[in-house]
Amino acid sequence: MSTASNLPLSIVIPVYNEELNLPTLFARLYPVLDAIGRRYEIIFTNDGSADRSIELLRAQHAARPDVTRVIDFNANYGQHMAIMAAFERVRGDIIVTLDADLQNPPEEIPKLLAQMDAGSDYVGGYRLNRQDSFFRTYASKVINYVREKTTSIEMTDQGCMLRAYSRAVIDAIVRSGAINTFIPALAYSFAGNPAEVGVKHEERHAGVSNYSFYSLIRLNFDLITGFSIAPLQYFTMFAGLSSLGSFALVVLLFVRRFAFNLDRETFGVFTLLAIVLFVLSVAMIGIGLIGEYVGRTYQVVRARQRYHVKEVLETK
Ligand code: UDP
Ligand code: MG
Repeated sequence: MSTASNLPLSIVIPVYNEELNLPTLFARLYPVLDAIGRRYEIIFTNDGSADRSIELLRAQHAARPDVTRVIDFNANYGQHMAIMAAFERVRGDIIVTLDADLQNPPEEIPKLLAQMDAGSDYVGGYRLNRQDSFFRTYASKVINYVREKTTSIEMTDQGCMLRAYSRAVIDAIVRSGAINTFIPALAYSFAGNPAEVGVKHEERHAGVSNYSFYSLIRLNFDLITGFSIAPLQYFTMFAGLSSLGSFALVVLLFVRRFAFNLDRETFGVFTLLAIVLFVLSVAMIGIGLIGEYVGRTYQVVRARQRYHVKEVLETK
């Protein structure tokens, strides 16, 4: 749980193998924040980087101990866990998250703050000129659409991590202890007055995205199943319709065979086999989905700590 608030602004940045980006990030971020003229802190979480990121963060902490805090994980737990660990320790009234790879220009932070000052408790950025591969951009449009249909979350661009949150929203996220940690969506569900602003998007400064195709699928599955049980309900409806359909088909086959004496040679076998396979596959999707929810319940019930902090660098 976060300590009592005593700062106007906290910046939260997850870092995973960003040694090539950190020097530029430091050079651009600190001047922007110094110029805003509010007291601030920057919390970096080193998410088990295998490169020299932690050395660079240590050096930065030594250079600016007044405003720099570093959380060092013992292993890689993922971007959202890294942000969560920082959320548990923030001291600011307004909390801003951004990526370490400079895809979210630090120069856009004042835009978010202006919208927060105008009375919002949650400001999401949406990328004006998205600089990602065609595949990434298109896939996230599809996911955005699915999310809109299955949850009550309204967001132009769920993938943009340049966002500002009020302390109350952050405290609610921390208290929820949610096993699902798609932070922008979680924050939205606690916000009273959410707003959005357009922000610039740049190409990754150096290196390649840490997200493989597989981890993106996992993340998005998290997003859908973590915020509604709509998938279960859709599944049940679909399963109901398909069993009605298969039943009607069986009736039709019997009528053709016995009332009209058709299909004498081919009756049954192949058609029924197809039906059985179809019903079976529907059942298997259902088992998988139920398993997902059961698995989540298990994780929550087990209440194992979700990450382990090796060390925290901070000046009290
Ligand atoms: N990141 C992290 N842990 C991970 C993967 C990524 O802390 O396991 C950080 C990464 O250093 C960056 C941010 O999360 O600051 C976004 O990661 P990335 O740029 O790889 O994702 P993309 O921009 O491709 O969505
Ligand atoms: Mg990136």
